[in-house]
Amino acid sequence: MANKAVTFKNYEGQKYEIKLRKPRKEVKAAGICYPPENVGIAKILVNPHQDEDDVQETIIHEISHAFFWGTSEDKITYFAKTLSQILKKLDNT
Ligand SMILES: [Zn+2]
Repeated sequence: MANKAVTFKNYEGQKYEIKLRKPRKEVKAAGICYPPENVGIAKILVNPHQDEDDVQETIIHEISHAFFWGTSEDKITYFAKTLSQILKKLDNT
């Protein structure tokens, strides 16, 4: 599962590939989304070595960057956290 890649396109048509893989050591984040200016396929990496909820939140967070590039980190973080909590609550009822 860790090597499985999923691709998608954002609204502008930029292609992305998302993978559950730990970002390089120097990147301390739980995930990383490379800028859409990259030629070809831009990459998103999500660290799989977190608990399930955090992995889901990180996936939402990084995909949000891909769709809303330029939106502040605070907004993306708040959105990802909120959506992740809503999905979790709906799932638990
Ligand atoms: Zn971010």
